[in-house]
Amino acid sequence: MTVARIIGDKGRAVVTAAPNATIDEIAKTLAQRKIGAIVLIENGGIRGIVSERDVVRAVAAEGSAALQKRATDYMTTKVVTCRLEDTINDVMHKMTAGRFRHLPVLEDGKLAGIVSIGDVVKRRIEDVEREAEQIREYIATA
Ligand code: AMP
Repeated sequence: MTVARIIGDKGRAVVTAAPNATIDEIAKTLAQRKIGAIVLIENGGIRGIVSERDVVRAVAAEGSAALQKRATDYMTTKVVTCRLEDTINDVMHKMTAGRFRHLPVLEDGKLAGIVSIGDVVKRRIEDVEREAEQIREYIATA
């Protein structure tokens, strides 16, 4: 199973914001769209990523004043990405090694989707269930 399959199923839509969006705007978008991270885009390129964890960090550090800060104040700038041809295992390794749950997908250097840990776990469970079913069929017909 590859990232291309996941993106083929869920689509290429990625919720993005400008890096100068406020933490208040970021929190509202995360809540309204029921997502965990927003990719920050500037001049057509990825400038950073801000996740719900960054919003929690901001509020813990500054209280309600954090809401008027900019995404640039709390975003991660070294964004790890994946490619359409990467496998689910590649993605799981990157998420585990980096301790994050979101991976933007790049195609020809351009944003082509985003994969979350939820997407990965869903496909992994489907794979395991399919394998178990195949083994059951094999045993039944052997
Ligand atoms: P998450 O687990 O996605 O909520 O993110 C945990 C932390 O990792 C936050 O500080 C995010 O800004 C950061 N983060 C999330 N996704 C990525 C990524 N693909 N590359 C680098 N950092 C990330």
